[in-house]
Amino acid sequence: LDKDWQMMLRLRSPGGYIPAELFVALDDLSNRFGNKTLRATTRQAFQMHGIRKENLKEVISTIVKSMGSTLAACGDINRNVMAPAAPYNKGGYPAARKLANEIADLLIPLTAEGTYLELWADGDLTYKICPSKKVQDTRKQQFSKGLFSGDSQEPLYGSTYLPRKFKCAVTVPGDNSVDLLTHDIGLVAFTKNNGELKGCNVYVGGGMGRIHNTETTFARIADPLGYIDAKDVLSLVQSILTLQRDFGNRKLRKNARMKYLLHNKGLKWFKNKLISKYFFKGLQEIHPEPTTRLKDYLGWNKQSKGLYFVGIPLISGRLSGDIKEIIRCVVEKYQLEIRLTPNQDLLLCNIGNYQVSSIKKELAGINIPAPSSMNDISRHAIACPALPLCGLAITEAERFLPELINRIDIQLKKLKIQKSILLRMTGCPNGCARPYMAELALVGSGVNQYQLWLGGSPNLQRLAKPYLQKMHIDKLEATLEPLFINWKQNSLETSFGDYISSLSDQLIMDLLSDSSTA
Ligand code: SF4
Repeated sequence: LDKDWQMMLRLRSPGGYIPAELFVALDDLSNRFGNKTLRATTRQAFQMHGIRKENLKEVISTIVKSMGSTLAACGDINRNVMAPAAPYNKGGYPAARKLANEIADLLIPLTAEGTYLELWADGDLTYKICPSKKVQDTRKQQFSKGLFSGDSQEPLYGSTYLPRKFKCAVTVPGDNSVDLLTHDIGLVAFTKNNGELKGCNVYVGGGMGRIHNTETTFARIADPLGYIDAKDVLSLVQSILTLQRDFGNRKLRKNARMKYLLHNKGLKWFKNKLISKYFFKGLQEIHPEPTTRLKDYLGWNKQSKGLYFVGIPLISGRLSGDIKEIIRCVVEKYQLEIRLTPNQDLLLCNIGNYQVSSIKKELAGINIPAPSSMNDISRHAIACPALPLCGLAITEAERFLPELINRIDIQLKKLKIQKSILLRMTGCPNGCARPYMAELALVGSGVNQYQLWLGGSPNLQRLAKPYLQKMHIDKLEATLEPLFINWKQNSLETSFGDYISSLSDQLIMDLLSDSSTA
């Protein structure tokens, strides 16, 4: 007897866009072939768990025939491209979404039009992914520069693809919903008054994954590379990926992400190599940006004239039970587009003003909490799936998050602290829920034990630091209490992460050791 294989399947959905037809198909598939849930990931895509091997063909083929794709959602390749989920028609939002789609098409493997459809859709090219003319032109230019690998089947990725996964995000100035600095390439899109893309600030070399007790692996935030005009953005993005393809570490997989290339060679080397060997143009100085915020778009928002969207919070992105059923019903009945946020929440978009009151009634009918009624910690807290769904998990994350939020909430109330804290949790150091950017994070390090990370910023601009290696979860309140009391006594007007980062490591360690002797 062979093992009873089951799979996790992840979709590719640039900017978190899920058309109504696709959502209805995913809901059906998850009920028929999966574990009856859908999970919104921190990269704005749906994952399905529990797909048995013999059902994969039907599941993927249905996804492809329902306007979806799973191509390049995993593997050593460019992953799902992120963009602000808000469907606004104002400011730079439409241009950022468009650019994210173009990058996703630009960096797709060309086997998209052959092997993938042959494998999963019986070779039916009706469903082929068809990059825009602009994307095709950029590819041709790169061909003419001789930058491709010479592999005619797969000229960009060659036969060996990239040394490791590759992640891109686009945003607009001031909106850091995408956690921009955690990406291999982060782009901030500046637009003209008419909404057309003017150019981008470009950041390179971010990444979260690390390994416990291995100092040569670490989380890193991206460096500012420079500003580039709109006409050259795609060419620059492809040049950066090609540089990583050629110079990324292929000998040591744990050091293969582009962040290690930046760390080892330095930004100056990276920029020189990029300009002299791949891009052949200079970059301007980074343009000034306003202070950024972690935006979540929860609740009811005006989308454009006559249209609204509503942000629905999902704990750890898990969509199941009554909430899943009612969302399916509303999406199908009103043909609403969905957008998933990097915070694992879900936006129902394109709601006509005349539909608002009836949709409000349908959502109220299943008791989806209004965002204002959620405590602030749960609003932004995220966790990875971890046990029992991830083979790398050391500890609980998603299943434990509600209890963690509740316990910290109770503790803050007891101490009369009416402030929120950006909280993240993962079951291993791989960092899928980007814990190293949080004000307070727990990263699984042993049975019921977690590394304690402190000091990220509420707008995701600074790395946190590890202060405890193996904190037993039973010691959570005792460990945090001296820190919370010190924060309250000295600087409650400052956020918890900003306050912690203003303290010396020694003082933080002293406070933590107070807790162990208490
Ligand atoms: Fe990612 Fe680790 Fe969580 Fe698995 S346990 S989902 S690898 S962070």
